[in-house]
Amino acid sequence: MARRLAVVVAHPDDDTFGCSGTVALHAVDPSFRFVLIHATNGAAGQIAEGSGASRETLGVVREEEDRRSWVALGREPDRHEWLGYPDGGVADEPFDRLVDRIAAILDEERPDVVITFGPDGITGHADHITVGRAATAAFDRLADRGDGFARLLHQAIRRSEIEAWNERLVADGKEPFDPTELYQPRGVADDMIGVEVDCSSVVDRKLAALLEHRTQAGDVDSFDDDGIREALARETHVIARPQHGAGAPPLADVFEGL
Ligand SMILES: [Zn+2]
Repeated sequence: MARRLAVVVAHPDDDTFGCSGTVALHAVDPSFRFVLIHATNGAAGQIAEGSGASRETLGVVREEEDRRSWVALGREPDRHEWLGYPDGGVADEPFDRLVDRIAAILDEERPDVVITFGPDGITGHADHITVGRAATAAFDRLADRGDGFARLLHQAIRRSEIEAWNERLVADGKEPFDPTELYQPRGVADDMIGVEVDCSSVVDRKLAALLEHRTQAGDVDSFDDDGIREALARETHVIARPQHGAGAPPLADVFEGL
């Protein structure tokens, strides 16, 4: 059974938001293998009040928060690699070297499914976009050799979902997201979504994992209690490889059909 998953992201908590529900759903499957790659440790990120981190310690604290998030979720990665790129500066580093480093790990692991960022980077963040491009290039380099690499997924949010979040935020008297602004979530056309994983049965575990990212508490605070649960209850992706026509009914699991 094809159940090897590799997730390639930029910062601690990108993984929690994007795929922890999927991991929780496969947690007890003995054939499931989960490999996680972080390009940076998020050392330039926000520091929530009371989180105990300083500008000097933030990177180390966030690595530890990320480890604890997987413990809280109840399924830790089988392999977790930190590539040590500067937070906010991945795009300024040699791109081919980044592709080589991701490809070296993926070549050892031969994952069936790779999840990374697409061209929108979810939030337009240059680190996200660069890591997604590099992981996609690594996938393309390795995919034609057989064994694994059956599917490449780009994390994405339906445009209509962001519109629904915004209606809720406005109703609560809060500032809505602006998808044209850097670091604000942006969506793809609804019919581009090729995988939609219903994580509602594990949403408590996903929320517990997210709350371990204490230095990033602001990300959770922008939602009300029901809103964050609803937002976490679905993990959606564009199927980047093999090419997948728009409008087909979404698969219910990242491994479906493999
Ligand atoms: Zn990020």
